[in-house]
Amino acid sequence: MSPIPDDVIEQVRDAADIVGLIGAHVELKRTGTDYRGPCPFHGGAHRNFAVIPKKGMFYCFVCHEAGDIFTFFMKKFGMDYPTAVRDVAAKVGIVIPERPSSGPDPREPLYEALTVAGEWYARRLREGADAGAAREYLARRGFPLDELLPVGLGFAPKGDEFAAAMRQLGFKDERLLEAGLLVERDDGSLRPRFWGRLLFPIHDLRGRVVAFGGRVLGEGEPKYLNSPESPVFHKGRLLYNLHQAKQAIRQVEHAVVVEGYFDALR
Ligand code: ZN
Repeated sequence: MSPIPDDVIEQVRDAADIVGLIGAHVELKRTGTDYRGPCPFHGGAHRNFAVIPKKGMFYCFVCHEAGDIFTFFMKKFGMDYPTAVRDVAAKVGIVIPERPSSGPDPREPLYEALTVAGEWYARRLREGADAGAAREYLARRGFPLDELLPVGLGFAPKGDEFAAAMRQLGFKDERLLEAGLLVERDDGSLRPRFWGRLLFPIHDLRGRVVAFGGRVLGEGEPKYLNSPESPVFHKGRLLYNLHQAKQAIRQVEHAVVVEGYFDALR
């Protein structure tokens, strides 16, 4: 069986309702924010076994068995880790893609290109003489630049400077194309996809840059231009800024979903 990508494991863990899944095997009762029941591991009759949905964990106060939803299935049913992940995935309706070999993630070069691009664009927003309009635009919307730096906002200038800088760093055009950073002109030559735009990096659940959303400054169409679908970016499976918000959502068991990048940042 091929290894399961980390982001998929995380996705399964996030989607799993630990109370429901463990509750199918242990009689759980709500106690405050936790759930208690008799421990299935040491076999006690008292409610010493706690399931803590906020943390996605279980814990027994007597025998000290502890872990997450995957650990529970491993310990309870003697599964190995990948089997437990696949079992839980099947229960929550997530399809785990098979990879042909167990080598390094073939998408790694794309993550690398997108990360480096994000850093280049962010520096341009901070320092570029041609990014003045972008900085003013952010200030007008009430976003001080120093607050936005950790979010990684960037500026894509007009012209071929970005492509030249990436080539200089050793990135080949094929890789930049596959990552959606370059596009082909009608005459077959290449240009940067983002041209005179304010860029919002889009991260996956693990916080890796997988795409950009680019807002035009001043007049122009389209107002927003996104990276295309790629091996690392599947638009329908991502929620902007969720990598930052997921812990808080888990803690308060509540989420606010808004439409725009700025709304999300605010
Ligand atoms: Zn126990």
